[in-house]
Amino acid sequence: MRHRVVIIGAGFGGIRVARGLQGADVDVTLVDAHNFHTFQPLLYQVATAGLDTDDIAYPIRGIFRRSPVAVRVARVTAIDIEQRIVSTDRGEPLAYDTLVVAAGTVSHDFGIDGVAEHALPLKSVSDAVAIRNHLLDRFESAAIDGMQPGRLDVVICGGGPTGVEMAGGLRELYDRVLEHDYPELPVAEARITVVEMDDQVLPGFADHLRDRAAATLRHRSVDVVTGVAVGQVDAGVVELDDGRRLAADTVVWAAGVRAAPVAELLGIELGRQGRIVVGPDLSVPGHPELFAIGDIAIDPDHPLPQVAQPAIQGGRHVAAQIRRRLDGRDTEPFEYTDKGSMATIGRNEAVTEFPNGWTLAGRFGWLAWLGLHLVYLMGFRNRLNVLVNWAWNYLTYDRASRLLAPSDDD
Ligand SMILES: Cc1cc2nc3c(=O)[nH]c(=O)nc-3n(C[C@H](O)[C@H](O)[C@H](O)COP(=O)(O)OP(=O)(O)OC[C@H]3O[C@@H](n4cnc5c(N)ncnc54)[C@H](O)[C@@H]3O)c2cc1C
Repeated sequence: MRHRVVIIGAGFGGIRVARGLQGADVDVTLVDAHNFHTFQPLLYQVATAGLDTDDIAYPIRGIFRRSPVAVRVARVTAIDIEQRIVSTDRGEPLAYDTLVVAAGTVSHDFGIDGVAEHALPLKSVSDAVAIRNHLLDRFESAAIDGMQPGRLDVVICGGGPTGVEMAGGLRELYDRVLEHDYPELPVAEARITVVEMDDQVLPGFADHLRDRAAATLRHRSVDVVTGVAVGQVDAGVVELDDGRRLAADTVVWAAGVRAAPVAELLGIELGRQGRIVVGPDLSVPGHPELFAIGDIAIDPDHPLPQVAQPAIQGGRHVAAQIRRRLDGRDTEPFEYTDKGSMATIGRNEAVTEFPNGWTLAGRFGWLAWLGLHLVYLMGFRNRLNVLVNWAWNYLTYDRASRLLAPSDDD
């Protein structure tokens, strides 16, 4: 019987494992709860009506159309690591010889009261559409029922790249599009606030880039509140630990993540944020047949950031290790190459930090950000669509995707 590899998750990591095994003497099954791969770095653009969902999502079967990879669209519900069987909510259980867990993360509320009930996460395509719908619905309500305190205001909890990009994109949507769509509403007075518990936004970036990002946000009329944590979220209000209360009908939660629940199905001891603890070769200690990569995994001796590159490089590495084992060779340790970090604050402004310490900001940083995101997007059609949309948005100041998407009962 051929060696059977099951990969859980068709995100940045899982796709690279499956691709890396093409041509190998193995049967590969790739399982994902969705039938598409999501390019999460551009989710905020769907939430702020700059792009549509199918610009940033790509059908998994399309990626592996001409390859023997078997795709199963189903949610993993149980894993028996002794019997080596993965069960899903649809179809027969899948037996494996090697299992790769690449199921990413889910939004984490850190136990803060009211987050789950009143804040909108930004982790998936449906989250992004839910935020866009919610925002547009607030504007329609204001147009019909009149303004109430906080009706058009937004509080974004978390000043990392997601929070900063969301705030910048939102301000552009408000000032350049919705202000003209709703001339009767005081859109310019709507407050968009980013709350970050660290002493500056973009933790992990060089200090001067963090200061520049905060200054740009403020210049673009985004309130930046730093050095204080969110204490509680109620309907229409965010309460900060220092007692301040920020009224806002829309609260976006971009403050943290924890491992996807799949990690708990393994029945092994987990690390920080419920992540799967791996050794130097990315396999689970004591279980050489079990690998974990990307956001869901952590090597406590070499923790990596939960961004796309560790997942991409980890996926390639694990495919290579599976091949080595099949050839009777030992596995090698994973060596991560840092490719830097970047975040955009909106039109003509981004901050980029290279591994050698060089930095780029402003228009050049923004062009680098645009180029890199286009390169890593899945599929030529999506790249072209995104490029055309960006050019259109840039030249016309328009946002074509500001539809209130119909819900199931429409
Ligand atoms: C809003 C946002 C913005 C970001 N911006 C950037 C950025 O600018 N740059 C950057 O480098 N990184 C960014 N990231 C982080 C980056 O997207 C992640 O680090 C990366 O996606 C991790 O890849 P992964 O393969 O580990 O998991 P993911 O890409 O999250 O893929 C996990 C897959 O597992 C599937 N899955 C989960 N549970 C199950 C189950 N039970 N059964 C079946 N399938 C399951 C999911 O459907 C998903 O397809 C951003 C993330 C978010 C949320």
